[in-house]
Amino acid sequence: MTEMTVIPSSGAALPAQPFQARHLIGGVWQDSADGAVSERISPSHGVVVSRAARGGKPEAGSAIAAARAAFDDGRWSQLPGKARAAVLLKVADLIEANVERMALLETLESGKPITQSRGEVGGAADLWRYAASLARMVTGESHNALGQDILAVTLKEPIGVVSIITPWNFPFWILSQKLPFALAAGCCCVVKPSELTPSTTVMLGELLIEAGMPDGVVNIVLGHGQPVGAALAEDPRVDMVTFTGSTGVGRAIAAAASGTLKKVALELGGKNPQVIFPDADLDSAADAVVFGVYFNVGQCCNSGSRIIVHADIAEAFTAKVVALSRKVAFGDPLDPATQVGAIVTPEHGAKIDGYVDAARKAGATVALGGGALQVPGLGAQFYQPTVVTGVTPDMAIARDEVFGPVLTVLPFRTLEEALHLVNDADYGLSAGVWSENVHTCLAFARGAEAGTVWTNTWMDGFPEVTFGGVKQSGLGREIGRQGLEEFLETKSLVMRIGRSRANWVRTA
Ligand code: NAD
Repeated sequence: MTEMTVIPSSGAALPAQPFQARHLIGGVWQDSADGAVSERISPSHGVVVSRAARGGKPEAGSAIAAARAAFDDGRWSQLPGKARAAVLLKVADLIEANVERMALLETLESGKPITQSRGEVGGAADLWRYAASLARMVTGESHNALGQDILAVTLKEPIGVVSIITPWNFPFWILSQKLPFALAAGCCCVVKPSELTPSTTVMLGELLIEAGMPDGVVNIVLGHGQPVGAALAEDPRVDMVTFTGSTGVGRAIAAAASGTLKKVALELGGKNPQVIFPDADLDSAADAVVFGVYFNVGQCCNSGSRIIVHADIAEAFTAKVVALSRKVAFGDPLDPATQVGAIVTPEHGAKIDGYVDAARKAGATVALGGGALQVPGLGAQFYQPTVVTGVTPDMAIARDEVFGPVLTVLPFRTLEEALHLVNDADYGLSAGVWSENVHTCLAFARGAEAGTVWTNTWMDGFPEVTFGGVKQSGLGREIGRQGLEEFLETKSLVMRIGRSRANWVRTA
């Protein structure tokens, strides 16, 4: 373990009491009718950090009814965009004023480093601001060249009641990729955060009330996928469900939503490759590879979990990555020096280890790590930075989303071969290329089957630039202008000018 950089417990004080999270339904904070509660044990600190009402079908039904009533009476959907924008801007200010409080809970529930939680919560305020600007840009098309006697326009209307179901890995960021855009469009929402990370969503509920959001426009139901998430996907009073999470659950949601043919938007898993050519800036590429695979302990849809390296440099580049990996600070998420924190649950840690073990048994070489990491003073719900070489494209570790700090290395010789390896995957979320040759980068960008392609960088993102996946990485797009469009319906309005319409029935 001395070969890795481990940050022991900082001894930072934890909150005196667990955060109490309740449902927000029709503007009222509520416990579950049956009094059921879930406790979240911090993955890093092993103590209860939040206690949340555990909802069931009754709470999901009440929340949907509240959103439906709010949407149908127009208390939000019929406001001018300017008025909606004003509320969203106030929410952004309040998020910024509450970064510390929210970041602490985000870290304690998810296990991610405190600096990252501050960045996630503070950065999310910018998503709210950008969405506020879009609330004033809900525009359709005009058709003024259909003939002198016709004018047609397309009207953009909010889609209606939207269910928002989010995962545990970026609880506040992912919520903010969806909710402010749905609100900018004029929709009313029911939000269900992951049962593992409910608190920052509930804190946002408090801020929405403070910002003047009308009751019932945003409702929050806490609980598990079954029955709460499933009810939000199935219910006929819901017009759209937007989900971020695993591909398997995404499929279940699409099936549940099919009964009422509601719109479904899915942001799912990834097995994202970075391709390294010999002419690249290899120091920069190695740093981006290490960032790409260990950021959020690899529990990241955009994790750069496989690198495809030119055979001429594969050995030297892998050695560079291994050396850099040893310098990444793993450990106490409450210490600002920590770059990588804890694994979300013991079960998930065992799943990660299972992939590494199976690869080892199948003949791969574990060049670094490959087991739990003991952090002094905090325990072992951590995983070592792990690099696996000698991998073949058919191994599960090279194909499945491991969702841990585990990198696989595959060699290639030609651009065509690299693209074949990139595209030989069920997923298509993101892909990256490292080369100083613009022709190589552009040919790669065109050939890669992915929703986002990065050239000479990794995981750069902006509220303005839309995000989403192809193949089994999802359906639909978030953020950017398209992030607003997802929550709008288009109505065509065709108007005849004057009395030029010829009668259909011959009366003479
Ligand atoms: P998950 O699919 O287990 O759970 C996500 C959410 O769905 C949770 O709120 C959960 O309670 C709910 N859920 C579970 N079963 C359900 C059901 N039958 N019906 C309705 N809702 C249900 O995912 P997770 O483990 O929380 O998150 C990790 C996954 O999320 C990874 O696969 C990751 O790639 C993916 N992810 C994707 C993106 C993206 O933008 N593409 C971003 C972050 C995470």
